[in-house]
Amino acid sequence: MINGKILVTDGMDIETLQKELGDCFHVDYRPGIRQEELEQACQGVDAIIVKPRVRLDKGLLERAGIKFIGVAGNGTDNIDLAFAKEKGIDVRNMPGESVDSVAEYTLTVLGVMARNIIRAHQSLKGMKWEKDLLIGSQLKGRTLGVLGMGKIGRAVALRADRGLGMQVVGYDPYVKQGDIDGFECRMIEGLGDFLGEADFISVHVPLIEETRNLIGSGEIGKMREGVVIVNVSRAQLFEKEALIAGLRSGKIRGYVTDVHYQEPVGDEDRELIGLENVICTPHIGAQTREAQRSLAEKLAKLVIERLGNQ
Ligand code: NAD
Repeated sequence: MINGKILVTDGMDIETLQKELGDCFHVDYRPGIRQEELEQACQGVDAIIVKPRVRLDKGLLERAGIKFIGVAGNGTDNIDLAFAKEKGIDVRNMPGESVDSVAEYTLTVLGVMARNIIRAHQSLKGMKWEKDLLIGSQLKGRTLGVLGMGKIGRAVALRADRGLGMQVVGYDPYVKQGDIDGFECRMIEGLGDFLGEADFISVHVPLIEETRNLIGSGEIGKMREGVVIVNVSRAQLFEKEALIAGLRSGKIRGYVTDVHYQEPVGDEDRELIGLENVICTPHIGAQTREAQRSLAEKLAKLVIERLGNQ
């Protein structure tokens, strides 16, 4: 017996999802569905599974008969949560499933930046031998600033301390020194003081009203000369023009970003990602087989709990 219809709007481990949901649900798998097609696709749908790309605003939620929203990730800034609550729509995100994958991405790109791997790769592909120009730095002993010491921030801090021998400092108004356990990380109270101590800054703050444009020109001014920033959280945490100015002046030596002002990427990001010292990826922090399988299993379980399997 079919218990309901589920719309899946983005690429995910559909085999696992189908396997877990068995014959009880009709799954409409529409990876990459356009925003303007969404409302039509939501007709007769009981549950929707989305990624941050898709916006579920008040108008759409009001007209659709959705009972459950499963977020294949952590961030819920693409959903009108207040209205969903008012309408009794159950919204569940998956805060823990991608922690290791996102932390590993972060550590990977720290190494890539410290050793100029992208430039070295491009130069050699161009049949150049620029060995003498490619002096990097070790990570051991350098200071990593972790902005946002939640699940991913702590997973990054642990690996940077234990695995790489970096000095780790943290900034998070809601995490105290006593909350840190199992690795070395000195929590710093002021954002400005924190920014001034780090050679590398890794950003793991959710996008909420309070954190939009958290980093502007004033904050960039407080950073170390030649700082490298990794943003695997949300683009909008940075004031775009200030970030571009910081990158053009060389104050910021490099910016690695997995997240963009417009996703899928468009004109809003053209200038930023066109800069030579920006390295970018298309929101792949959680795109590992392990994280995607785990997400699909958990989401299927929640759908069954919410909509039943009889
Ligand atoms: P989390 O909720 O466990 O941690 C977020 C931390 O940020 C919390 O400790 C919170 O206190 C802190 N914070 C809030 N406001 C702050 C501020 N003003 N300054 C400093 N810290 C502040 O979340 P998480 O699981 O660690 O994920 C962090 C973010 O990573 C998510 O919100 C999401 O945007 C992003 N993310 C990206 C990907 C990807 O594929 N690129 C995947 C998963 C998560």
